[in-house]
Amino acid sequence: MSFRDALQTYLDNPERHKDQVLWSNEDVVIIRDLYPKSTFHYLILPKLHTHEHPLYAFKENEIFYREVENYVKLTKEILRQNLNKHDAFAKLDGENFINTFLKVGVHSIPSLKNLHIHVISKDFHSPRLKNKKHYNSFNTDFFVDFEKLCPYPRQNSEEEEEEKEKEAMLKSEADTDIESGLSASESDDLERKADEPPETIPQAPENKPHHIYAPFSHLIAGKSPHSPETKKKETNRLEDILKSPLICSYCGRNFDNKFSSLKVHLKQEFNKKFSSI
Ligand SMILES: [Zn+2]
Repeated sequence: MSFRDALQTYLDNPERHKDQVLWSNEDVVIIRDLYPKSTFHYLILPKLHTHEHPLYAFKENEIFYREVENYVKLTKEILRQNLNKHDAFAKLDGENFINTFLKVGVHSIPSLKNLHIHVISKDFHSPRLKNKKHYNSFNTDFFVDFEKLCPYPRQNSEEEEEEKEKEAMLKSEADTDIESGLSASESDDLERKADEPPETIPQAPENKPHHIYAPFSHLIAGKSPHSPETKKKETNRLEDILKSPLICSYCGRNFDNKFSSLKVHLKQEFNKKFSSI
């Protein structure tokens, strides 16, 4: 069994992992991450759709999404109770900690096969956080918020405004192509052709998820998550993430490639915020 299957054992035999399993029933197993990248780092492992890619698993499946959403709430509650076991955290306003200092979501390219949702505190103060990739996998667009996986998101008016602005911008970009000697429609055709997959890969627009967070929509448009093309794009995406600068999760300071400086700074930030620990 490869390391990519490392989570399967928790689904098969949760009773054998009492130290790590926080909760299990017929639907899910909730565990502490074996290599926590923050003070609190839990994983929700739904039993259903366990071998689906996280960006697809909830696709047009609101029932499943809502079910897992309930387990996200449960995990937060377990975490809130565990705060009390740490002296300094116990003094905090647990509700506020849960609402402002947690991230819930998935990696757009998971390293482990079984579907898992991360619930992680934003301190990233952990000896297991050992390199830029570890950090950026939670602090860039590589991490997709669970909310964004909702198949039928309730759009608020602000989001609708942003959509409209984006459309207007795309339209004005198309108009400027007229200056390059192409009509807007010819230019659209060219653009469409460039986006089209080779003819051997059938397009399935009816399967195109409409809820995927925009930066990843190109990964999946009309293609299977496991096609060679998608894998190539996934790899490219990983490389891009390795290149993005390191940004402090507390104050937004840019550390570029200086991972060890960021680690020192994260420790300072942690001590400042949770000074009595
Ligand atoms: Zn900072």
